[in-house]
Amino acid sequence: MSALDIIGDDLKTELPSGETVRFAHLDYAASAPCAEAAAQAVAELLPRYGSVHRGTGVRSQTSTVAYEVARDVVAEFAGARPGDQVIFTRNTTDALNLLARALPPGTTTILFDGEHHANLLPWPNPLRLAAPPTPEAAVAALEAALAEVDGPAVLTVTGARNVTGEVWPVRELAEVAHAYGVRVIVDAAQLAPHHPVSLGELGADYLAFSGHKLYAPFGAGVLVGRSDWLDAAAPYLLGGGASATVGDRTGELTWADGPARHEGGTPNLLGAAALAAVCAALLIADRDALHRHEQELLARLREGLRDVPQAREVSLFGPDHPRVGIVSLALPGHDPAEVARRLGREHGIGVRAGQFCAHPLVRRLLSTENSESCGTAGTGLLRASFGLGSTTEEIDRFVTALAAVLRN
Ligand code: PMP
Repeated sequence: MSALDIIGDDLKTELPSGETVRFAHLDYAASAPCAEAAAQAVAELLPRYGSVHRGTGVRSQTSTVAYEVARDVVAEFAGARPGDQVIFTRNTTDALNLLARALPPGTTTILFDGEHHANLLPWPNPLRLAAPPTPEAAVAALEAALAEVDGPAVLTVTGARNVTGEVWPVRELAEVAHAYGVRVIVDAAQLAPHHPVSLGELGADYLAFSGHKLYAPFGAGVLVGRSDWLDAAAPYLLGGGASATVGDRTGELTWADGPARHEGGTPNLLGAAALAAVCAALLIADRDALHRHEQELLARLREGLRDVPQAREVSLFGPDHPRVGIVSLALPGHDPAEVARRLGREHGIGVRAGQFCAHPLVRRLLSTENSESCGTAGTGLLRASFGLGSTTEEIDRFVTALAAVLRN
């Protein structure tokens, strides 16, 4: 097995007919399956872990080294620059909430409507711009907003949309933002599994992503970016690790410096090591080849869907805009949740239905769809998503099964 092979991809499931088929996981955008590199990192640490940054025994020492090596690897994966910091969090939601609390007081947060809720809800003083119809419109809307906004501001933007898979013009947006002295935060939860993410190349000041979408298990994510705001902010979680000294009286204390300040409590070594192991494997992988494979699957899916007229792909920037392996479908006249259930039960295929924690965007996509029989906006969409280890056979099975379910 190689480091980026998916473990458990021979999982079987029994259909009502009694037939046993290989389970086809097409829900990577929710949680991707585990890569061998992550499994190996966990297996190596299980027999020897101890508490990170606590204790002098060999277990604790080994764990502390492994944790800090994981941090270094993530720093390299994210293209961290001098003055940047890597903080391990629980996931992207946690990372963005942490950063939201560390913004200098009075900062306006500029964002586009249609973000995942994790990048929509945490921000103080949000200035929500209408979801743009094109990437150019996004840049123009940002420019107009920046000319208007009073006082300090940041821009937070997705790297790739979790509903449409559309890759956002982060670089172009960052150029405009930086011209106004405004920092840029990138929610890379869906970008990092599919594209190299380098702070410098994206023009980002902060990046957040999750291990469980990056072929590692649950429980670890990261925030990478400029240290100054993070060092100046109150710790995200108050407790051990975040505090340097605590006196006898309330308020008699000093906070830790560096990443420890925001990593209160005992660190998640296994999560960090698993996440970093995948980062390390991706750093030396042929990303172009992985990208080509994913784009071939995407083209095949779209080709196949031409024969399923009841399913209509939705997008904000149009079908030709670059995207990662995520496709969402409006199913006029059908309940996407029921279709997803039947795909699972009758065909052994895992997809997701609903609004994908992006209610404003899904409402907007549904309302711009021909609404003759799309039902109410609340009905949602059906989403298929894929990545490492996904096969043409799975794509073909999905298309055939979807056509069959929609027929009767
Ligand atoms: N942003 C985007 C674009 C996402 O797709 C997700 C997960 N669906 C998140 C943020 C939140 O990630 P997590 O649930 O791992 O915190």
